[in-house]
Amino acid sequence: MIRLPTASTTHAHPPSAGRRLVLQGGASLALLQALGATTLTHLAAATDAEADTPPPAPSRWQNWSGLQQATPARWLTPADEDALREALARTQGELRPVGSGHSFTALVPTSATLVSLDRLAGVVDIDPVARTVTAWAGTRIQALARALDAQGLALRNQPDVDVQTLAGAIATGTHGTGATLPALHDDVVAMRIVTPDGRVRMLRAEHEPDELAAARVSLGALGLVTQVTLRVVPAFNLHRTVWLEPLEAMLAQAPALAARHRHFEFYVLPFTGYAAGIRHDIYTGQDLALPQPADEDVLGDLKALRDWLGRFPALRQWVAQRAIDPAMREEARHRSFRLLSSVRATRFNETEWHVPRAQGIACLREVVRRIEQRNEAFFPIEFRYVRGDGAWLSPFHGRDSCSIAIHAAADEPWQYLLSDFLPLMQRHQGRPHWGKLHSLRARELAALYPRWADFQAVRQRFDPQQRMLNVHLRQLFGVAAA
Ligand SMILES: Cc1cc2nc3c(=O)[nH]c(=O)nc-3n(C[C@H](O)[C@H](O)[C@H](O)COP(=O)(O)OP(=O)(O)OC[C@H]3O[C@@H](n4cnc5c(N)ncnc54)[C@H](O)[C@@H]3O)c2cc1C
Repeated sequence: MIRLPTASTTHAHPPSAGRRLVLQGGASLALLQALGATTLTHLAAATDAEADTPPPAPSRWQNWSGLQQATPARWLTPADEDALREALARTQGELRPVGSGHSFTALVPTSATLVSLDRLAGVVDIDPVARTVTAWAGTRIQALARALDAQGLALRNQPDVDVQTLAGAIATGTHGTGATLPALHDDVVAMRIVTPDGRVRMLRAEHEPDELAAARVSLGALGLVTQVTLRVVPAFNLHRTVWLEPLEAMLAQAPALAARHRHFEFYVLPFTGYAAGIRHDIYTGQDLALPQPADEDVLGDLKALRDWLGRFPALRQWVAQRAIDPAMREEARHRSFRLLSSVRATRFNETEWHVPRAQGIACLREVVRRIEQRNEAFFPIEFRYVRGDGAWLSPFHGRDSCSIAIHAAADEPWQYLLSDFLPLMQRHQGRPHWGKLHSLRARELAALYPRWADFQAVRQRFDPQQRMLNVHLRQLFGVAAA
C-alpha cells in the first residue's frame, strides 16, 4: 500500500516491517482533529508473520483474505520429494498445490487432494560464480532473501510482501516494480517438477526452453514444482524516498521518474487529489536507517475519512487536502530485501491488471474516475512498472507493462472490483494478475496470450488426465467439468 514518512529513523523493527503510508505524524493528527475523532479502529490485527508456521494439516483451508475456502478430503505435506512421489502414487482424482495462500483467485480450492510443500523449504545450493541459487519450492521469499544476503547475494527485485512461497509466487507471475526489472519468474533458469503420475521432470533454460517457458508461470497446472533455480545478483543497499504530490503532477512526471529510478511506483489516494510516490535507488553509503512503519495509521485515516464523509465527496476532498502535509518525506537506507517488501496487517481483496506501458497513465486516469464514483472506496490505488518477458502465460509476455491494483477491505463488498473495471481494462488490452480477482474466461484469455495453445499442449503432456484442474482452472482453460 502506501509508505509514508515517519518521525523516527531507527532500524530497530523487524526486517519485513517497512510499511507504506500516506498521511503521518502531524498530518494524521490534523486529519483526526478535523474529523473530531480520537481513535481509529483497525480492520485486522493479524500479520503476515503468521504465514511462517507450516500448517498443522487442518481439515479446512482459506486464503489470506478469507475469500477462498476449501475442505479437502486429503492434505499432503510430504517431507521430501520421494515422499511426494509415493503420496501421489497413492491418490487419484483432483490435485491442487498450495503455497502460502496469498492468491485471491480460486486457484487453490479443491475438495479432493491439497498438496503443501511447506516442508520442502530451504536453500539447496548457491553457486556464487554462476550467481544462481537453487531452493526448495516451499521456501518463503523472505527466508530465501536472508539466506542469499548471508552469502553476499540478493534477488533482483521483490514483491510488496515476502511471505509467498517461491513456487506460489512464480506460478502467478508475481512481480515488484521497476521499469527495467522483470517479474520473478524471468530469473528462473531451471525447475524440477513432479507430474501427477509421480515422474520427475527437470526443465533447464538451455535444454528444455519451451517447457520452461510454459512452466515459469503455470498456475500450478503442470504438476508439483519441487525445486527452482534462480539467477541472483550481488547484495545491494537501497535508498528509499517517499513523498506526496498533487495527483496531476505525479501523473505528468511518472514516466520520467520510472526511467530515472531503479524502482518507482506510486499510490493514488482516492478522494484527496494526491498521490504518494516511492522511489528506490542503489545506496553505497554506510549510514543505514529504517523508519518505524506507520501506514496502518494512514490507511486508518483514509478509512475514517470515508466513514465520516463518504457521502460528501467534495467535503471529503476538502478535509483531506487540509490534513495532508505535501512537504512530508520519508528517507530510508537499508538492505534491498528489507526495503522492497512490507508487512500487510489490514486484510483486503484485490484486483490487478497489467496494461501496455504506453497506455498505463491513460488507463489509470479512467480507474481513478471510476473509483471516485464509489463513495465507499478508500484504499489507495497502486501503480507499478514491470519489464516484459517471454514466459507463455506471463501477464507481461512480450510487452513492458504498467500494473494497476485496486483493493477493497476484506470485510467489505468487493464485487465492484470485477464489474467496474473489466470493460475499462479490456479497452486497454489489460491482462489480469493470475492471483488477483478477475472474471476472464478461456475465450478472452486465449486472445490475450499468443502462446496460449502452446501452453495447453504442454499441460496436456504433463497432465493427460487433467488431475491438476479444479473448477477455476477448468473455467480459465475452457476444459469441461470432469
Ligand atoms: C498482501 C498481499 C500482497 C501481495 N503483493 C503482491 C505483489 O507485490 N506483487 C504481485 O505480483 N503479487 C502480489 N500478491 C499476490 C501473490 O504474490 C500471488 O498470489 C502469489 O501467487 C502467492 O503465492 P503463495 O505462495 O501464497 O501461493 P498460493 O496463493 O498458495 O498459490 C498460488 C499458485 O501457485 C500454485 N502453487 C503453489 N505451490 C506450488 C508448487 N509447489 N508447485 C506448483 N504450483 C504451486 C498454486 O496451485 C496456485 O496456482 C500479493 C498478495 C497478498 C495477499
